[in-house]
Amino acid sequence: MPVKILVINCGSSSIKYQLFDMPEEKIIAKGMIEKIGEESSSFIQTSIKGRIELQRQIASHEEGLNFIIEMLIDGKEGVISTVEDIFAVGHRVVHGGEGFTKSVLITHEVIAGIEECADLAPLHNPPNLVGIKASKMFLPHSAQVAVFDTAFHQTIPPRAYFYAVPAELYEKHKIRRYGFHGTSHRYVAYRLASILKKDKRELNIISCHLGNGCSVTAIEKGESVDTSMGFTPLEGLVMGTRSGDIDLAIIFYLINKGYSVESLNNLLNKKSGLLGLSGISNDMRNLMAARDKGNARAKLAIDIFCYRLRKYIGAYMAVLGKTDAIIFTGGIGENNAAIRKESLSGMESLGIEIDDEKNAKATRGVEGEITSEASKIKAYVIPTDEELSIALDTYEIACKQHKNQA
Ligand code: ADP
Repeated sequence: MPVKILVINCGSSSIKYQLFDMPEEKIIAKGMIEKIGEESSSFIQTSIKGRIELQRQIASHEEGLNFIIEMLIDGKEGVISTVEDIFAVGHRVVHGGEGFTKSVLITHEVIAGIEECADLAPLHNPPNLVGIKASKMFLPHSAQVAVFDTAFHQTIPPRAYFYAVPAELYEKHKIRRYGFHGTSHRYVAYRLASILKKDKRELNIISCHLGNGCSVTAIEKGESVDTSMGFTPLEGLVMGTRSGDIDLAIIFYLINKGYSVESLNNLLNKKSGLLGLSGISNDMRNLMAARDKGNARAKLAIDIFCYRLRKYIGAYMAVLGKTDAIIFTGGIGENNAAIRKESLSGMESLGIEIDDEKNAKATRGVEGEITSEASKIKAYVIPTDEELSIALDTYEIACKQHKNQA
């Protein structure tokens, strides 16, 4: 059934959106509002009608969503004639705790469940909820669907999600590994299965999402069995500005040296990772350029980034027993051949051998294999598309509901 699906991602001061024609998976319009609540907010929309950029004050997410809807139905710039053309809305929700193991139709109970998880993601779930409530208000005829970053990882077994701390912390405070980027890992694994014309249950995959945030997931027969991000997105790989794994005693040591808890939170999430190590930038492109000019700290940051990733890949090969494929995705994973090569270097005896020519050819937007004929484990570049993944889930769930109502 051909319908239009709106995908919404509400951040703390932004709203990103895409309107899809489904099931064709065609984007009709996409855009974003940034700096919500500031003196001047920016709005950008690109669509079949062209590109518009505006500056105007948008005080709240409700106002922002209302403006987006107005622009979508606008006589001149709009791409649909009435709001009723929007069959369903898919909302990205960062944290679904243990309660949400897959995407769901949003009901009062679901809203209450997302509110309960707000404590676990205080920066993300509250704006996600505001978006959901505003969308229900402005588009009451549309089905509303929640797609969670954490849901894909709810298949991780206790041995991988428990931390070795007193077990009451799990009971009392829900301390455990949740994992993030689930929509991306699930989507690229699904894409690889389609490319290889295999059922997802026939494949064991290590998926590396390397963007500003980075995480790696071990996927056994289509299910996440371990992932590098933990209770929060801070754990695991070296990221743009996050430290990833560190010895936690460093925190106590620095508190004794006079650092506040808040400053350490900021330091580990916003000032560490590639930025902290290099002292130059959180952007891998800038670090590659600096390394080429002989900058030693940029080289060190890149070395640590690749080494940490290699360590996780090795660990997840042991977790999976048999690995069929490694996937690279995200801004770095999709575009940076050097990082892919350096991360997999020295693993030939483990069955991974990069083909330099294929690796160099794989850039953004292109799905492709990057390993040699002889490589026992194949590696692929698969561009992620979290919005499309949300649209696919939303389409499926909304069509099912529509059928049930008919
Ligand atoms: P986010 O996690 O914010 O969505 P991205 O997935 O876009 O971010 O990843 C950002 C990272 O991807 C940056 O380190 C950047 O250097 C890298 N990147 C993005 N585009 C390219 C490119 N064309 N070539 C090399 N690196 C790129």
